[in-house]
Amino acid sequence: MLIIRARRVFDGRDLTAKRAVVVSGGKVVELLDDAPEHGDVRDLGDVTLLPGLVDTHVHLAFDASPDPVTALDREGLYDRMRAHARQQLAAGVTTVRDLGDRGYLALRLAGEMTDGPEILSAGAPITSVKGHCWFLGGEAEGVEGVRRAVRERAAKGAHAIKVMITGGEMTPGTHSHLNQFSQAEIDAAADEARRHGLPIAGHAHGGPGIAAAVAAGFDSVEHVTFLTADDVAPDPAIMAAMAANGVAASLTVGVTPGVTPPPRIAALIPKLFDSLRLLRSSGVTIVGGSDSGIGPPKPHGILTHGGEMLTVAGMTPVEILRAFTSDAARVCRIENRKGRIAPGFDADLLAVRGDPTTDHTALRETAAVFRNGASL
Ligand SMILES: [Zn+2]
Repeated sequence: MLIIRARRVFDGRDLTAKRAVVVSGGKVVELLDDAPEHGDVRDLGDVTLLPGLVDTHVHLAFDASPDPVTALDREGLYDRMRAHARQQLAAGVTTVRDLGDRGYLALRLAGEMTDGPEILSAGAPITSVKGHCWFLGGEAEGVEGVRRAVRERAAKGAHAIKVMITGGEMTPGTHSHLNQFSQAEIDAAADEARRHGLPIAGHAHGGPGIAAAVAAGFDSVEHVTFLTADDVAPDPAIMAAMAANGVAASLTVGVTPGVTPPPRIAALIPKLFDSLRLLRSSGVTIVGGSDSGIGPPKPHGILTHGGEMLTVAGMTPVEILRAFTSDAARVCRIENRKGRIAPGFDADLLAVRGDPTTDHTALRETAAVFRNGASL
């Protein structure tokens, strides 16, 4: 039995009046007003203890180099993925949801790695023939082809289903604003995921793609940029439908400071920010998916920088912390064991210097990380 003492304890929803957390067998046993005089007490001093962060969207197979796709073919992919997972954990990201790798390596890592974060894996994203990220191996065609792809992932033990509803920036020949699947195919993917009890995430930039995911009953939409061919066109009706149907927006947040985005995106940033603010005020649940690995601005563990963009969206520091802990756990359907400091929950904990409930940048001031109650 270990007692962890901290100046402040954020339980995944709110700052509490507690000062100590009792941990045993990898789980949180209880929260105390303060640590007792005796016993196995680890006093972390002037820190805030919070649940370990949950990143809803990473790519452990991508190495954050300028050309992560070519790098996939380099020898040693599995070992690099293990290193990337360690990097996540060191930053305090105790759960990652991998939304696109190759050959079910992230799923294998989830079963084999004992010193990393909890890994949830969707396997290769389901995409159209030569569609976005086709090189990961998840091409599918037709209603029956899409259903088969979902069933294959469920049979392998995947924790989620990921569908590339629109094209994406990193795949030449695809277009972010255009749908790659018919509504019937998108509906079939969601229906099949539901049958297998799996959450389903849809990659969608353009409004029609976001709308298609909402209509099909997806759990989350990734990116949600409302990109058109050359502009940004936020649609309040689609946002209202997301909010009404409980479809979360998994926003692509967290960028290395000082790195400039590609020119096409840079020119659109003011409009993307306006769209974020509208999304926020529409009452849509917002969580953070860093998309870590996809390029130099996105090293593994970058979620701790994600508060910058969510602040722009109008979120308070406490709302940002919820987005990165309890709300993210709910979107990944692990809210019964992750994202909270509460009795019975996994003792995945992050301690940071300062107070992230008033300043999100404190998330980067890592003081300690615990995974299943064990300190790194
Ligand atoms: Zn991604």
